[in-house]
Amino acid sequence: MDNQEQLVLINPNRNQGSEQIELVDQSQEKASESSEDQEAKPKKVTVSQKRFKIVVISLIAIIIALLIGLVLAIALGKSSKAENSKLETCWTKECMGIASMIKSFQKTSVDPCDDFYGHVCGRYPEHTTDDSGWGHKQLQRLTYQIFSLVRKTKKFSTKPNEQLRIFTKKCMDRAGMDSDSLQYLREDIEKRGGFPLIDPDWNEAKFDLSDMLANYLSLNRKRMGFLSVEPFEAVQDGQIVSLLFLGPGPHFVDSIAFNVSFYKESVAFMLERLLQLENRTMNTAEFSKAYEEIMDLEASFVKLGDYSNIRIDTDDMSKTRNLSELAKMVPEIDWFKIMRALPREATSEEMKEDFIKKIRVHGGGEYFFGEERKVRRLARIATKTPKKTLANYIVIRQIIDVALYYYDKDLPKQGKYYKKGSLQNFCSTLMFNFFPIPSMNIFIEQSEYDMENLKMMERFLNELKEEYEGIFNENQYLEPEIRSFLKKKLKGISARFGYPEYLENQPLLEKMYETLNFEETDTPYQVYTKLWRHRTEQLVEHIVQNTPLNPVHLKMFSLYASYNSYGNNFEVSFPYMIYPWIDVSFPFYSNYGHLAYVVGHEIGHAFDHFHRRLDERGIEHKYWITDTNSSKIEYEKQEKCLRDQYSNYKEPGYDFFMNGTVSRYEIIGDHMGIRAAFRAFKKAQKRETVKLPGFDDATGEQMFFYNYAFRQCDVSDPNFRHEHLKNRPHPTPRYRVNGVVQNIPEFFEAFQCSKNSKMNLETKCKLF
Ligand SMILES: [Zn+2]
Repeated sequence: MDNQEQLVLINPNRNQGSEQIELVDQSQEKASESSEDQEAKPKKVTVSQKRFKIVVISLIAIIIALLIGLVLAIALGKSSKAENSKLETCWTKECMGIASMIKSFQKTSVDPCDDFYGHVCGRYPEHTTDDSGWGHKQLQRLTYQIFSLVRKTKKFSTKPNEQLRIFTKKCMDRAGMDSDSLQYLREDIEKRGGFPLIDPDWNEAKFDLSDMLANYLSLNRKRMGFLSVEPFEAVQDGQIVSLLFLGPGPHFVDSIAFNVSFYKESVAFMLERLLQLENRTMNTAEFSKAYEEIMDLEASFVKLGDYSNIRIDTDDMSKTRNLSELAKMVPEIDWFKIMRALPREATSEEMKEDFIKKIRVHGGGEYFFGEERKVRRLARIATKTPKKTLANYIVIRQIIDVALYYYDKDLPKQGKYYKKGSLQNFCSTLMFNFFPIPSMNIFIEQSEYDMENLKMMERFLNELKEEYEGIFNENQYLEPEIRSFLKKKLKGISARFGYPEYLENQPLLEKMYETLNFEETDTPYQVYTKLWRHRTEQLVEHIVQNTPLNPVHLKMFSLYASYNSYGNNFEVSFPYMIYPWIDVSFPFYSNYGHLAYVVGHEIGHAFDHFHRRLDERGIEHKYWITDTNSSKIEYEKQEKCLRDQYSNYKEPGYDFFMNGTVSRYEIIGDHMGIRAAFRAFKKAQKRETVKLPGFDDATGEQMFFYNYAFRQCDVSDPNFRHEHLKNRPHPTPRYRVNGVVQNIPEFFEAFQCSKNSKMNLETKCKLF
């Protein structure tokens, strides 16, 4: 949602979109928080590079120690009976790197059969200087790596890369921002209807709410005042289409942190600068009074609806309305004029019409329609509020967006981003949000990235689908009709790995940045405005022309994988497809334990409690819905088995149980993912030629489980809010490891666990 594009602290428990199920564990959630900037806890972004270096240096030290150990072991002629030792040792820096990490996080005093997570990750906290998980650190490392590649390049040969270079330069120029007089902002305010708070001769008679909203929408962002727009996907006449959701401003939906009251000080800071242009000073009393009025106005918008319910329900599009219906309901506002301000000026009339047709308004809430009480409160606010207050509100909302870049005091939480120490963090975050594909292309070109990694993902997809088919065939309870239904859906699953259209197709990328024109002489305000306007235009193009890249979907540079029920497809983001997540030189157990599992997890979502009912086109399937069929009864029994297990877990230090019902979809993704990945691994293992250094005594099967588990390593965060822990969709790292392997008999075989070991439950759950 739009809040992905604002730098504030908001409820970390917010769901990203009802139609998508994501694969993110706690560490990955932290990673996304940082990379997408919206959910970042302040403490996460203050992690200094220095600390990061300490971790890197200690890892290098461990590698060296490991190598010495190995040489000694070889010299002493130590032999292992494990068949693993017959393989050649992989000595690439990637293999050494991952081996040393696995080794250094392990706590061998913990019995893997009693607490596998504790065994694999027990010493991870010793290797981290903050509270972030392993995944977060890897993403941060990548971020800085690419940022520094961009910064040290004098000139790029392609336009997208060159625009990215100018952007990073401008973003890092704090002095330029401090000395920017903001005269262009002042001019924009003037052109768009003035600002009663500082214009003594502001003319109320000329004010038109719709005009002003349209004017500001055409300036930059895809949100204005009490409105915002978001792209979403839905099925229309059997086709997946991109549509636009017109909803309330994100500051209502997500958190109080977006509230205008939060920004009073930064707005005052900006106003002072604007007034300086005319050698004036701010009248504090007048400002406070006007600010009270706009806070009251915003409070009246907030009262309009139940915002927890306002998201569009893509499962039931019949609840949505189109723009004409909204215009009929609230004719006091010119909705068509406002929405027509979103496409770029040069857009043809025909395309603008097409765009308008693709707008959907949330029809279930009170916000726009006010049906429950039939009072049309939005219309009443628009007509009864003094025009001066409405105008002040719209301009101040615009100023807040700008202030996020200029105001570097510590007061608003996001101010921490702008402090000199974390400027690089801030700018690299923006780099990924606005230039994800150029960033990746620069990385691919300059870091000698092996595109074989992407091909390996394709192989995983085919192999994992084969294993799922095997699982369905071997299953004892599925009735023939349901079995063939599941297999048909399985066959139809497709995947996208890291946006290949853009990574390999330069013309498409060139077109995407065709209209972005940063100049070296631009002021920071001009850069900022161009950046956001370009994003808005990309959004419109995505909706109208169905371009493959959703510009608001900012997850492409986080550790992200997601299954989409309507397309029966899933995607895995590019940062997952690099070291240390995957590498062509890795042994199979590493690649299958990491990425084949991710692929298996996403396929698993197609058959989770919700998605199993939908066929390959996203349409509800009749067989599952009857109450009496035995497949359904057995499926639900097994699903409940998994849920109940999870609902009996307690995180150490917390006095409540986890919630298996909230996590049911992810539990299934993990459960099926590891089973299918392990099966595929067993077949691949027959072709295996390499092993990781330092693990001669471990079997391939053990190594598969080590690799699966160690990516979850995290430190338990005593500040983690109870509410968040209770409602998180993904199980905690500890139980994403222990809760998963305890249902896999092959795990106990691999570690030769006794019947009495703690994790070796008598009753194991098995979904299919
Ligand atoms: Zn998932």
